[in-house]
Amino acid sequence: MHRAGAETDILISGGGIAGLIAAAAFGAAGHRVICVDPAPPVTEEGAAGSDLRTTAFLHPSIRLLERAGLWGRLSPHATPLQVMRIVDAGGTEPTARLTRDFDAADISDAPFGWNLPNWLLRREIATRLAEMENVSFRPGTGTAGLTARDSEALVTLSDGSHVTARLVVGADGRNSPVRTALGIGVKTTRYGQKALAFAVTHERPHDNVSTEIHRSGGPFTLVPLPDRDGKPSSAVVWMERGAEVARLMALDPQDFAAELNARSTGILGQLTQATRLSAWPIISQIASRFTGPRTALIAEAAHVVPPIGAQGLNMSLADLSLLVDLSQDDPGSRASLDAFQRRRWTEARLRIAGIDLLNRASMIEARPLRDLRAAGLGAIYGIAPVRRLMMKAGLGVS
Ligand SMILES: Cc1cc2nc3c(=O)[nH]c(=O)nc-3n(C[C@H](O)[C@H](O)[C@H](O)COP(=O)(O)OP(=O)(O)OC[C@H]3O[C@@H](n4cnc5c(N)ncnc54)[C@H](O)[C@@H]3O)c2cc1C
Repeated sequence: MHRAGAETDILISGGGIAGLIAAAAFGAAGHRVICVDPAPPVTEEGAAGSDLRTTAFLHPSIRLLERAGLWGRLSPHATPLQVMRIVDAGGTEPTARLTRDFDAADISDAPFGWNLPNWLLRREIATRLAEMENVSFRPGTGTAGLTARDSEALVTLSDGSHVTARLVVGADGRNSPVRTALGIGVKTTRYGQKALAFAVTHERPHDNVSTEIHRSGGPFTLVPLPDRDGKPSSAVVWMERGAEVARLMALDPQDFAAELNARSTGILGQLTQATRLSAWPIISQIASRFTGPRTALIAEAAHVVPPIGAQGLNMSLADLSLLVDLSQDDPGSRASLDAFQRRRWTEARLRIAGIDLLNRASMIEARPLRDLRAAGLGAIYGIAPVRRLMMKAGLGVS
């Protein structure tokens, strides 16, 4: 194998949120890390191309952020999620006809999780990486080729240089070039849906309640953020069929505000749009394998889910946590990668199937089926042991 160029323990392809956290986590575990991404991170909310989504981190993810030396830096910006509220508004009128609350206090001293804006995560994690001597983050350079053998992996970068790595981590998104280079296929489900992500201010305080409202087209979710310009604020994820999202985005601001307030059922009083709108295509996807020689796929390179129940990045951090644990002695060894494949692939497949069902139930247009959904919601979530079990699953405790 060609040996010219740099050598490292871990080469991370992709500096999205998953790749950046991976660089900090492997770096904190003492490995030499290079992380590459052709697109430099956008670290200001108002800048073009900024990621206006937020991430609700559940408990196991916080443990990983602590291990990576990130939580101390992130926690001052995080909003706790104390209550998960599920609302059915599927009747003739778009009003809340059934509400179920899950309060984390019923099972734990801690909240379910903490919410943080994605653009801010990029800013804080990139700053941390710059302080780590054993981590080199190279925005502006991407992965151009990969030759992986059992002994080592050779990565060709877009600037023509080469890096030899013991482990390549493919964190380069849903169209992962690392996955393609390994010839690993994917199974993709398209829903014809998109998610609008943006921030709002509102009249009533959110009281750290995250609210998911179901009517048709997909859930409408309000996730707590810190106050903005002295007013309570939340992140919105509004899922609808693609054509409806295109119609909404083309409305003038007044008409959009009317649709927004109708869809939110007035649950937090009047909502006022506070950022531009961003639209995200919704799919489910799983790679047929999560590993190749000296290579592991994590995050959206491995699996994509619709944004329901804050699962996407939390699943990704579970991948990462296991991979860091398995990489203590010989990162990229056959035994560690076999264990990674065994433990993460089946878990991801089951979770994707569960979220797919929830999404399909939330998309339902037909009234009788919407009534059935509300009845099911009321009955299932009304049973105390089921509620406790679901809350523990949300918290990541057994
Ligand atoms: C509306 C919405 C809301 C969400 N909310 C939540 C939530 O509350 N909680 C949660 O857990 N998850 C949530 N998710 C999911 C979460 O946002 C994603 O899982 C996460 O952002 C994906 O991160 P990623 O790093 O895998 O992929 P990406 O962000 O796509 O990053 C991939 C990176 O790879 C880079 N890349 C591309 N080509 C190359 C190359 N040749 N070489 C190197 N790098 C390359 C790209 O430039 C990019 O930076 C949500 C998703 C959506 C759509």
